[in-house]
Amino acid sequence: MSSPKKGDLSPSEKELFQVITAGNVQEASRLLGCKDVRVNCLDEYGMTPLMHAAYKGKADMCRLLLQHGADVNCNEHEHGYTALMFAGLSGKTDITWMMLDAGAETDVVNSVGRTAAQMAAFVGQHDCVTVINNFFSRARLDYYTRPQGLEKEPKLPSKLAGPLHKVIMSTNLNPVKMVMLVKENPLLAEVEALEKCRRVMELICEKCIKQQDMNEVLAMKMHYISCVLGKCASFLKNREDKLDGLVKSLLKGRDSDGFPVYEEKFIRECIRKFPYCDATLLQQLVRSIAPVDIGNDPTALSVLTQAITGQVGFMDAEFCTSCGEKGAEKRCSICKMVIYCDQDCQKMHWFTHKKVCKQLQDQREAQEEESARLRMQQTNDESAAVQEATDSIQELSVENSSEVASLDVSETSAPPSAAAADN
Ligand SMILES: [Zn+2]
Ligand SMILES: [Zn+2]
Repeated sequence: MSSPKKGDLSPSEKELFQVITAGNVQEASRLLGCKDVRVNCLDEYGMTPLMHAAYKGKADMCRLLLQHGADVNCNEHEHGYTALMFAGLSGKTDITWMMLDAGAETDVVNSVGRTAAQMAAFVGQHDCVTVINNFFSRARLDYYTRPQGLEKEPKLPSKLAGPLHKVIMSTNLNPVKMVMLVKENPLLAEVEALEKCRRVMELICEKCIKQQDMNEVLAMKMHYISCVLGKCASFLKNREDKLDGLVKSLLKGRDSDGFPVYEEKFIRECIRKFPYCDATLLQQLVRSIAPVDIGNDPTALSVLTQAITGQVGFMDAEFCTSCGEKGAEKRCSICKMVIYCDQDCQKMHWFTHKKVCKQLQDQREAQEEESARLRMQQTNDESAAVQEATDSIQELSVENSSEVASLDVSETSAPPSAAAADN
């Protein structure tokens, strides 16, 4: 069959594009069964059905199209966009993941020279950036489960590939979380298994550095995982309390402010031990971390996480104080200053948090009193100032798009009216 031409669509193919937009999976499934429907047909802009489905954020539709053999790396779009780029633009992490899992290339660039990760970052879809930057296919890991060359045994027993892949795919680099992932799998939580996995991580790290399109980010991640696995192995070998002891050491805060010094030092040491001294990423990390006194911001974990996952927003989401998972919502009921995923995470942390909980509670109460006082003082000044600002924005709105400006005005005018109501 000749390759599809742009805009050369049969009536059923035209219908397929409409059905995708409408999100009707059943109808799409029927159409894909028709003789005159090619799953990789191109609309006039060179977009495939899969690109449309990805861009519209329709996961079920993407799955259906992939099952019907949609080419995830089709690159006929007029501006060189791929399905992965559209997935990144849509902000849907599940679809981004699906494209990667289907074999989407991550280093293809569009007509303005941007990769899918860069496009997603450009439109602020940072969760998709994280997914792309951290993707490492199971197939690449499975390579090590087969004997290579003269080897009698593979470097990685195949039963370890699954649990190790789970650790690799974690976008949460908090060492506590990684140790928890090791701990939850009895196959992995064993000295010999950990040593093997660790060795494979080092080999992949080396490959990432030495391959033609060097990937320092992935190399650093693999090295970091190797360090964490090594630490787990040494605790299993030498310590009575095993991995629980390692978790405790990582969580333990210093007396003055509860800052986890051991964890900070451990991560700094991992970074320092990165074996390729010339790597630009290593130098960047060291430059960011070295001048910071232990206990101050940025922490080594935040610098490392940003470098590897692209996650900047440690502030715009709630992270568990114990394991670093995103989306934690349960607050310590006493100090209300730390949050956890659940009671397990809270219990794990209590032995060290209890020493600073009261102190944090006092701090918070003092801050609340202070800000309440300030609010009272400022209320009068503010309503005058805001009125002034509102006036000037209204002036701007005449010159600029009235839509944007009017939004600003309504937001700005809200506080004074609320303040007025208070008075
Ligand atoms: Zn947690
Ligand atoms: Zn507390």
